[in-house]
Amino acid sequence: MHTHKIIKAPAKINLTLDVIRKRDDGYHDVEMVMTTVDLADRIELTTLEENRIKVDVNHGFVPSDNKNLAYQAAKLLKDKMDVKKGVRIFIDKQIPISAGLAGGSTDAAAVLRGLNELWDLNLSIDELAELGLEIGSDVPFCVHGGTALATGRGETLQFLPTPPPCWVILVKPPMGVSTKEIYQRLNLDQMEHPDTQGMIASINNGDFSGICSRLENVMEKVTFELYKDVERVKNSMIQFGADGVVMSGSGPTVFALTQNETRADRLYNSLKGFMDQVFVVRLLGTKHD
Ligand code: ATP
Repeated sequence: MHTHKIIKAPAKINLTLDVIRKRDDGYHDVEMVMTTVDLADRIELTTLEENRIKVDVNHGFVPSDNKNLAYQAAKLLKDKMDVKKGVRIFIDKQIPISAGLAGGSTDAAAVLRGLNELWDLNLSIDELAELGLEIGSDVPFCVHGGTALATGRGETLQFLPTPPPCWVILVKPPMGVSTKEIYQRLNLDQMEHPDTQGMIASINNGDFSGICSRLENVMEKVTFELYKDVERVKNSMIQFGADGVVMSGSGPTVFALTQNETRADRLYNSLKGFMDQVFVVRLLGTKHD
């Protein structure tokens, strides 16, 4: 029997993000194309003799109590499946927090997947994704990984092929953005919608420049109005030669795509001159299993 497991919890980026309507239950119907990138937290799960869940995080701003989404995932699974064992969850945080990269959701998803094995629960990935929705709208996507069109509140997933290989240069400006506030400030009656079908066709055709030209996020406008610096970061990335640039989620992370390594290097070096948190990673885009 295994008593220890290490799992990677990759961040997601939005290639497109559209908000369709506010629903009666308070959630919004969205339409977004999401994919995973090789910027990941490392989660260590260790069986505990005592029947309790203990979370440790190497990052001062992330809670280690029941507010942590990884804790909530373990608790949910433990209660639903009536597990009598305990677990220690150590989170080696690499994904910036409150960044639009689903850092908390991907930790929760990794814990669901990891504990399913560690506790021999034999739940299917679909069952884990369904449970994950109780924790957050992005958790089902994070349980599967890959590249998908997400609709509903984010839980209805239509999987797409892996996009062409490329570099992803991410910049996380210093402020944290509240997703709730951005939703409240969105004007649903007056917005330009992304070409979601065009993005899907480009991914289906493996058309990298088609993908780059269709990167779009309806939340950008609102976040840029609140934080001018985020817009400046985007403009710099275009100037420094990115093939396509867009903000992820409600921000403030902005990312650029390029297939050219020299250009990726140049972007990294130029941005590092004035931004603290710059990452160059590969796009993953393939399902976990
Ligand atoms: P999204 O893209 O889904 O909006 P985000 O990247 O903007 O997510 P997160 O980093 O997931 O934001 O977390 C935002 C808040 O959630 C933080 O204020 C943090 O206190 C809390 N949180 C709870 N659990 C975690 C976790 N495991 N990792 C990071 N933040 C967590």
